[in-house]
Amino acid sequence: MGTVWPMRRVERLDEAVWPALEHTEPLLVIPVGSCEQHGRHLPMSTDTLIATSLAERAVALVDGALLGPPLTVTASGEHQGFPGTLSIGNQAMEAVVVELVRSADWARGVVLVNGHGGNRAAVDAATRRLDHEGRRVLSWWPRVPDEVDGGDLHAGHVETSLLLALAPHLVDRSAARAGPALDRAAMTRVMSEGLRPVSPDGVLGDPTAASADHGHELLGLLTGQLTAAIEAWDRSPT
Ligand SMILES: [Zn+2]
Repeated sequence: MGTVWPMRRVERLDEAVWPALEHTEPLLVIPVGSCEQHGRHLPMSTDTLIATSLAERAVALVDGALLGPPLTVTASGEHQGFPGTLSIGNQAMEAVVVELVRSADWARGVVLVNGHGGNRAAVDAATRRLDHEGRRVLSWWPRVPDEVDGGDLHAGHVETSLLLALAPHLVDRSAARAGPALDRAAMTRVMSEGLRPVSPDGVLGDPTAASADHGHELLGLLTGQLTAAIEAWDRSPT
C-alpha cells in the first residue's frame, strides 16, 4: 500500500482526476455559449466568454461546485446569414443537453449557465425532459434590469460592456455601430428570415456608449443572481 495523499480540492473538471471525484457528488456547472457573429466589434466567442466567466465566479463562491467544459457551438441558426457563425440547430442542441446531463449522474446536479438567448427553446425542452426523468438540472438565464435591456439583445450595450470588462483586447470599439432595438415585428422577421435583413451589421441595441465600468457592475450583479439561484436550488428538495 502506498501513502494515501489528501485529495486536492477540485474546482475544474478538465484538470481533475477521477479518484478526486469519487464519493464527492459535486455540483457541475456548465457554461452554455455560442459561436456566432456579434456585430463588427465583438468576437464570435462573446456568449461563451460571458457564460464561462459567470460560471467561474459562481464556482469560486458555491461550496462543492465544479466548473465543467463550456458548450461552444450551439443553436445559432438566426445568425447563419453572417460568415463565421457555426450552429448545430435546435434539435441537436436539445439532444446534446439531454445526453450531457444524463452522463453527469456522478454529480449531485448540473447547472447550465446560459449565455445565448437563441438556445432558449432547445434548453427548455431538454430540461423539461430531464426533470421528467428525475434528474437535477438548473437552467439559469441572466436577467439584466429593464433600463439597459430595452431591446438591447445582441452585441449591444450589455454584451459590449461585459466584453470590455472581460476581454478588452477582443473588442474593436471603432467598429461598433448601433443597430435597431428589437420590437415584436422585428422579432417575427428575425424568426423567419434570420437577423441579417433586420440588422445588416448584426447588432440589436446600441454598443456605442458601452464601458468597462458598466461591464464590471453587470458582472457583479449577474454573479450575485447566479450564486443565489444555485444556492436556493441546491437547498431545495429533489
Ligand atoms: Zn451574445
